[in-house]
Amino acid sequence: MRKRRPNYRLVKTHRSYTVEEIARLFGMHKNTVRAWVKAGLPTCDGKRPMLILGRELAEYLKARRTKNKRPCQPGEIYCVRCRAPKQPAGEMAEYQPITESQGNLMGFCPDCEGMIFRRASVAKLAQIGGKLDITFVEAKRRVNESNGPTVNSDFSQG
Ligand SMILES: [Zn+2]
Repeated sequence: MRKRRPNYRLVKTHRSYTVEEIARLFGMHKNTVRAWVKAGLPTCDGKRPMLILGRELAEYLKARRTKNKRPCQPGEIYCVRCRAPKQPAGEMAEYQPITESQGNLMGFCPDCEGMIFRRASVAKLAQIGGKLDITFVEAKRRVNESNGPTVNSDFSQG
C-alpha cells in the first residue's frame, strides 16, 4: 500500500482544525484534505479560513476507513481470519484448476498461517498472481505409479 492511512486517533475531538492544521497533523498535502471536504467531510459554515471540527474529522476518517476496504493487489490473497489482503508466505502460491479456465490460487497467510485462497481465471492468473511464485497443481492427472523412484543398483543394501 503506497498511501499512508490517516490515523483518526490523532484528532482531538474537542477542537477545530484548519485545512493546513489537518494536513500537518497527518503529514499530508492540503489538497488531500480539501478532497475530503469535497467528498463530504463537513466544515463549519461560513468560517474563513475553513474550519473542521475534530469530532467530524474523526468520524469521517473512521467511516472512510471501514468503507475503503482495500481490494487485493496483484500477488495478494484475502485472509478471512485476518480480514485483510495478504501476500502468501514465502511469496509462494499453488494454482489448482477447477475447470479449464477457472481455479484457485492458494497459499498460506504469513500472519495466522491459515490457508488463504482466491478464485483466479487462467487468463488473469499472471495479473492476479503478481510476483508470486506459482506452482501449478494438476488435479486431474494422477502421479504415474509405475514411474516410482528408481532403485540405484550402485547402492548395495546391508
Ligand atoms: Zn491470516
